[in-house]
Amino acid sequence: MTKKCIIIGASHAAAQLAPSLRQGGWEGDILVVGDEPYLPYHRPPLSKAFLAGEKTVDSLAIRPEAFYENNNIQFMVGRVTAIDRDTKTLTLTDGQELSYDKLALCMGSRVRKVSLPGSELQGIHYVRNIADAEGIRSQVTEGEHAVIVGGGYIGLETASALRKLGMKVLVLEMASRILQRVTAPELSEFYTRIHTEKGVDVRTDMSVVSITGDTHCEKVICADGSVFPADLVVVGVGVLPNVELAEDAGITVNNGIVVNEFCCTNDDNIVAAGDCTNHFNKRYDRRIRLESVPNASEQGKTAAASICGVKKEYNSLPWFWSDQYDLKLQIAGLSQGYDQVLIRGDNFTSRSFAAFYFKDEKLISADCVNRPQEFMLSKKIISQKLEIDLKRLVDESIPVKELLQC
Ligand SMILES: Cc1cc2nc3c(=O)[nH]c(=O)nc-3n(C[C@H](O)[C@H](O)[C@H](O)COP(=O)(O)OP(=O)(O)OC[C@H]3O[C@@H](n4cnc5c(N)ncnc54)[C@H](O)[C@@H]3O)c2cc1C
Repeated sequence: MTKKCIIIGASHAAAQLAPSLRQGGWEGDILVVGDEPYLPYHRPPLSKAFLAGEKTVDSLAIRPEAFYENNNIQFMVGRVTAIDRDTKTLTLTDGQELSYDKLALCMGSRVRKVSLPGSELQGIHYVRNIADAEGIRSQVTEGEHAVIVGGGYIGLETASALRKLGMKVLVLEMASRILQRVTAPELSEFYTRIHTEKGVDVRTDMSVVSITGDTHCEKVICADGSVFPADLVVVGVGVLPNVELAEDAGITVNNGIVVNEFCCTNDDNIVAAGDCTNHFNKRYDRRIRLESVPNASEQGKTAAASICGVKKEYNSLPWFWSDQYDLKLQIAGLSQGYDQVLIRGDNFTSRSFAAFYFKDEKLISADCVNRPQEFMLSKKIISQKLEIDLKRLVDESIPVKELLQC
């Protein structure tokens, strides 16, 4: 009997897991069941180049259709509503049942929605999938008012794209600075300057309490009584992992589907990878849930290896990126818990610098703006736990490639 591996969710994790299964020697069937009508596609451009009209849907595909055909990887559009672990059966929305020998959970995450008076009005959008981004694009009109709720990366990237398209853009952030959850004040100040220079109105300490309009949004109201015109509202206030399917099936969940270093769940026949997982990270000595493409891909490889009976530990350094205007931010590691920040370059007037985050004089993370060399160096230092002279690190007269030589 041919064995069957089913992957639930057809995105970044699945696009890596499925071919890695073949490379790892899985000879059985591979079926990817996803609820979006596309083959796996690159999600990051949705708030960047795709939203700005610089990419088409076709150009988003992670791999061409022929690749999956050549590797005998099948796709089915559908939504799984239940997992029966005793009979190893999945149920889909239309009642169809599918049986599996091995199962991979790659359900990702979904946007956190706001529940405010007026939040159901037309013209209020989120950005998670192609349909969302197309919905925003269809409402872009040069000179009209766009209000972005949330000054995180998605909100700021959206602001950048809508500004490029000629909208008047206002960013409303509840905290006292944008990017507060993920960066040092130096980065928040930098991005506030960049957006302001581009004509974006960035307001902090602004809590949105309602949105008004007849059938379509017209105004956004804040707790301090401020009222802003809004022809279009984009909300970017974080995501929630898609765990309910797993939880209902008795799979252990704790802020994500709990996996070990081999991406295995508490069921021997079920692995999980990507945004929907929560793993213990040895490097940071705590459990974490990551929302990034590199994590989804690396966990996809590890999960595939586990299905093929090979123990391939997941221990990659987390990294991320964000594109806004002409700026490429590359982030190595996680900065939470830092006690010192050092800057190489000029974050006040230039458009290129690196912020290094230290804990007990050890580099734990770096935000590198248009600084690919510093990014590569940081990845190396953090991954290999190398020592670095702090004075030399911030001395721009020393070329990056010489920084590790003493
Ligand atoms: C606008 C935007 C910009 C981003 N920018 C960056 C960036 O610059 N860099 C970066 O590293 N990351 C970025 N990310 C995050 C990155 O896209 C995610 O980390 C990545 O997509 C996670 O991949 P995944 O496969 O785990 O899950 P997802 O991409 O979330 O995919 C999960 C898929 O499973 C489907 N699904 C869920 N439940 C079911 C079910 N029951 N049945 C069938 N299908 C189901 C979902 O609909 C979805 O298609 C961005 C995300 C967004 C939305």
